Amino acid sequence: MKKRMLANCVSCAIGILINFSSVFGLPCVSIKCIHSRSVNKTEIVFSKLRSYSAIAVAVFLITVSIHYTFLIITASTERGNLLTRIGLLSNLIFCVRSSAAIIICICKSGYMVSHFKGFESIRHNWKITEKEDLLELKTVRRFRKEVVHCFIIIAFLLLMYLTYLMISEFDANWNLLHKIATILCLCVDSMLFMIHEVMAKFSTAFFSTYQKNLRNKLLDYKPISKSEMLTKSGINAQNNSLRRIIVLNKRLHCALVWNVEYYNKFYDLAVLLWLITAIALLVSNCFVLLTLWIDRNLDIPESGFIGMESQIFLTILTVTYSLYCVHKLGSVSQDTLSFLFQYPISKLNAEEAAQVETLITVLSTKKPILNGMDIFIYDVSLLASITGTVLTYVLVAFQFSASWVKQ
Ligand SMILES: [Zn+2]
Repeated sequence: MKKRMLANCVSCAIGILINFSSVFGLPCVSIKCIHSRSVNKTEIVFSKLRSYSAIAVAVFLITVSIHYTFLIITASTERGNLLTRIGLLSNLIFCVRSSAAIIICICKSGYMVSHFKGFESIRHNWKITEKEDLLELKTVRRFRKEVVHCFIIIAFLLLMYLTYLMISEFDANWNLLHKIATILCLCVDSMLFMIHEVMAKFSTAFFSTYQKNLRNKLLDYKPISKSEMLTKSGINAQNNSLRRIIVLNKRLHCALVWNVEYYNKFYDLAVLLWLITAIALLVSNCFVLLTLWIDRNLDIPESGFIGMESQIFLTILTVTYSLYCVHKLGSVSQDTLSFLFQYPISKLNAEEAAQVETLITVLSTKKPILNGMDIFIYDVSLLASITGTVLTYVLVAFQFSASWVKQ
């Protein structure tokens, strides 16, 4: 009988999340694993079935986007309320962004298959030469727990929002479809960011485990005494053991950085698009909310106060948290670098010291960095530019708002 049990495998750690998010095509990958006494295997493949469900969601969102476009054109020709038009435009951006993210992620799912397979093969190769496992069972348990907690939070938020949408009146069939589309967009957005965060944390876990082991090994390493140094075999043994540790770790570091590249190729376009539209939505929502707050006589747009406020709040939260996770991944080698700089290099011989120097060079030049199509690097410093851009455009909008509202 096949018995399911937890193992130190990629699928056991993040399988639940990927299997759920693949319904939206983020990515279209099916992950299965069997662990029993006799069998121990993980299967990661591109799933056609999941791509169909993702395409169905994308087609639905595109239909709703077309309807929003139609509404915007009608409102513009009839010279309707400016705030209503901005509200419709932000809903349109919301739908277009999610459908674009789905389509991009379906097309790029192959990279994610390579990424997961990369993790598995790196782990296997490492296990052949070393005692420790790169993915500890403790980490697998932590990831599963985190994913379940995130699902509960997202489900609760969606339920609250759904209740709010259903309580607020709706008159036509299109209105209901708009609400379903909003819920779907929120699902896509939250999945997109959950995966972004989890994958960043997952890679960080791999890097920190091997670096922790490396530091322990270097601490335990004792240069041989002067009497042993006189024998040729003593020198060879010493050189070999330190060289072996450092060469293996350098290779592992490069392999992991290379694997992060695959992940970056999968997500860069979708996340770049998400970020740009998030800025546009933040500007339009802040402008509408401030305008309504200043002039209480104006009509409240369809999405309402709570809708816009929660959009602003969730966008700020997801952007900040995901940038924080990605920043942590980028600076994962900092502890090891400071450890290496303080390492008593004077006790080592010339060749060993050279090995430590090359390790320092590798760690400081090859960083697991995620970037948006090579345009910018994702890290916490991006928050300052995003805040600056949003503030500037909200102020610009206010400069022109007097003439717009009069129209
Ligand atoms: Zn497994």
